[in-house]
Amino acid sequence: MDERRSKPDNGADYRILAPTLMNRYSLDNYERPELVPPQSDAKLLMHSCCAPCAGEVLAAVKTSGIDVTVYFYNPNIHPVQEYEMRKAEDIRYCEELGIPHIDGDYDTDNWFDRIRGLENEPERGRRCTVCFDMRFERTALYAAENGYGLVSSTLGISRWKNMAQINEAGVRAANRYDDVTYWTLNWRKQGGAARMIEIAKREAFYQQEYCGCVYSLRDTNRHRSAAGRPRIQKGVKFYGREAIQSANVPGRGEYPALNRRSD
Ligand code: SF4
Repeated sequence: MDERRSKPDNGADYRILAPTLMNRYSLDNYERPELVPPQSDAKLLMHSCCAPCAGEVLAAVKTSGIDVTVYFYNPNIHPVQEYEMRKAEDIRYCEELGIPHIDGDYDTDNWFDRIRGLENEPERGRRCTVCFDMRFERTALYAAENGYGLVSSTLGISRWKNMAQINEAGVRAANRYDDVTYWTLNWRKQGGAARMIEIAKREAFYQQEYCGCVYSLRDTNRHRSAAGRPRIQKGVKFYGREAIQSANVPGRGEYPALNRRSD
């Protein structure tokens, strides 16, 4: 979940964030419906992009009794300090829920190779399709090689993403293998989007302010500059708290000196 220059995905799900619905679906007074995966006996490999998006998705899956493992594969995230911080939060939350966490490669050279020529695409454009394809292809490959019949991604719960774009990429990746299916559940529905925010605040997750790649960082900063707003400060903002230094947060390490090359 992050702040962008562009408007969120204009699906009906965005309206679920209205205050009245937030209350209706709050963690205190709403019970999640039990999720029924398309293959009830299959193990689920869940691609996770970050802890804020994973918060509600993993809680919903876990409380539904689904056998789930998290696959963190996000070589799009830049710079490496930001990548490490998002990953550490993801691991922390998985440990809390007792969910196995697999650390995929940080093969940034491959990511930059694949998106070459798409550097100036807008968010939710063709660059993002290639970015999703890459991440889901690796997830589906791992699933096929390790006996997971079902894959999905936490990316779809973010209102900044195009759900159809994500699901199409997921299905494309899973279709490479006979025994792997992509679960196209709309995680935002039935209070999911509202609980995502509540869990993020409860857990005081690190709150990234751009999607992840160097181009989304560039474009968000350009938008901020045009609006007279300060540039993104990486590593300092947490849900439910004022911006603080990460070094002051128990359980979190210092955010190392940033690579200024690209911001
Ligand atoms: S904006 Fe986000 S989804 Fe799109 S290419 Fe960059 S990191 Fe990937």
